[in-house]
Amino acid sequence: MINTCPVCGNSEFNYAPVLWNDLISEWQLAENEVKYIDRQQGFFCVGCGNNLRSMALADAILRAYNFSGSLEQFVESDSAKTLMVLEINEAGGLTPVLKKLPNHRLVCYPEHDMTCLSFESATFDLVLHSDTLEHVYNPVAGLSECCRVLANNGHCIFTIPVIVDRFTRSRAGLSPSYHGSPTESGGNLLVQTEYGVDMWKDVLLAGFSSITVHCLEYPAGLALIARHY
Ligand SMILES: [Zn+2]
Repeated sequence: MINTCPVCGNSEFNYAPVLWNDLISEWQLAENEVKYIDRQQGFFCVGCGNNLRSMALADAILRAYNFSGSLEQFVESDSAKTLMVLEINEAGGLTPVLKKLPNHRLVCYPEHDMTCLSFESATFDLVLHSDTLEHVYNPVAGLSECCRVLANNGHCIFTIPVIVDRFTRSRAGLSPSYHGSPTESGGNLLVQTEYGVDMWKDVLLAGFSSITVHCLEYPAGLALIARHY
């Protein structure tokens, strides 16, 4: 169980469930799955406001660079100053922290097509996205673009909601399911893929050399570290 926020170092947390009945039934979530997805999205740090999913992403970044401190301290460190970082969609409340990096770029999907990134190959050391891939029509194409823009030995670190006791399924042919309100988002939050225990396949199909499941808290606080070397 988490006791210190990896983003800001605070140790006070709060919780407000976020799932609603339509999404629970479309996703066919069992009771225990509702519980951990609610915790992933609704358990948050009082200090910085980041939820467990964003804290897992931050923790994975710190682990990938062997940094023993908070993300707020990491972005001020010498080792982070030279990092070329691409963030695809705002990664929860991490964006204001990541923006302190001198070489940070933020692009937004779908305005900026994740399956056709407008960057030269081998540009970035670190590519980040958080709960975006499940909305991409062709997730392998999205990940292979992340892989292409990464320099040798680069990291693509990301989160997706994973239901750990079932296999991945495409929602093609199923009723539309949205994360967030379809009217507010203009349909951008339409779910294309419901990820399960075989979520590693898309990463390796996209051309990455390895994938690590980083666990801040199981099963609600997982982040994936894909490496290209
Ligand atoms: Zn915090």
